[in-house]
Amino acid sequence: MNFKRVLICLALATAVVLSAILLPKNTTSESYDIVMDTNASVSVKSRRSSEVAGNILISAGKLEKQISKTMSGGDLKTVNAEGSGPMDGAGYGVIIDSLELCRMTGGALDIALGSLTDYWNTLKKNPAEPDDDIIDELKGSKYECVTVKDGIVSLEGGALLDLGAVGKGAACDEAYRILNDAKASRAVVSFGGSILFYGKGSFTVGISSPVKGSSDYIATVKTTQGFVSTSGTYERYFDLNGVRYHHILDPVTGYPVQNGLVSVTVFADSGIESDALSTACFVMGLEKGMNFAVSNGYEAVFVDDNNNIYVTEGLRDSVKVTDSSYSIVK
Ligand code: ADP
Ligand code: MG
Repeated sequence: MNFKRVLICLALATAVVLSAILLPKNTTSESYDIVMDTNASVSVKSRRSSEVAGNILISAGKLEKQISKTMSGGDLKTVNAEGSGPMDGAGYGVIIDSLELCRMTGGALDIALGSLTDYWNTLKKNPAEPDDDIIDELKGSKYECVTVKDGIVSLEGGALLDLGAVGKGAACDEAYRILNDAKASRAVVSFGGSILFYGKGSFTVGISSPVKGSSDYIATVKTTQGFVSTSGTYERYFDLNGVRYHHILDPVTGYPVQNGLVSVTVFADSGIESDALSTACFVMGLEKGMNFAVSNGYEAVFVDDNNNIYVTEGLRDSVKVTDSSYSIVK
């Protein structure tokens, strides 16, 4: 070996040793917060994992401000107050994608029902019998009254934006971008009922028990990288005179959906889809919702109030019932 070769070998060996010392190693970090009025939890395995986990929560907070109905200084609040206004960045993308999903679901998802959801939120704060006349005025398809052009969102015909059905999924999409940029090796990110599973290998997602106050699962589903959202009647509701008024509304009747379902879980390639479609399939009901999922290539789990679990074909071998009072209907 001549002298020049020895020098090259030495330089290479030094570079390898130095990079091993200087490049940060994969670590795992966990972070928690309250974002979008729900529990946010982030678990990341990557280089600089605590920075990555922190960035995910920061980006969710930023998105929340843009798309919140109530946060002062937010773009959406201004659009709702003025009937029109600019939106940019992630918030603008959420509106565009959501409107497409409203169309795709034939209005079962309707992001412009803000006046109706406001009314039901008022009743929830001070439980009272709903007023049919008010609901008659507020119900009905509204998403077609939203126009989006050159960064400006405009509302007509009583439309008021409420992105509650898609926001948490959209926050999972933001998390995905951050994890990709950081070249993270594995992560689980959840905002309430919307979860991102990131990385190689398999993950297990629990289907929550609809029993009040329970943190148990009734079934588990083995899955791979992707987005999963659940919409359930047990999430946000009030009880009055023996009736449960929950937070998923049928745009046609203006009332909380009463179709025997207690939860719908949708698996998708984006967070906004899984979130939007778990709400929309719930509104459609078991038969129509199941057909919608199957014909559009989504996997889903429906649970009804008779403790029956219905799963799409693709999940049959991945679902395990963990609560013996529930069974899978084939
Ligand atoms: P969660 O917010 O508990 O995750 P969902 O994703 O199902 O549950 O969203 C429900 C929220 O979306 C409601 O609180 C309300 O603000 C809004 N909403 C209710 N019904 C509809 C609907 N049919 N289409 C769009 N948004 C809805
Ligand atoms: Mg949803």
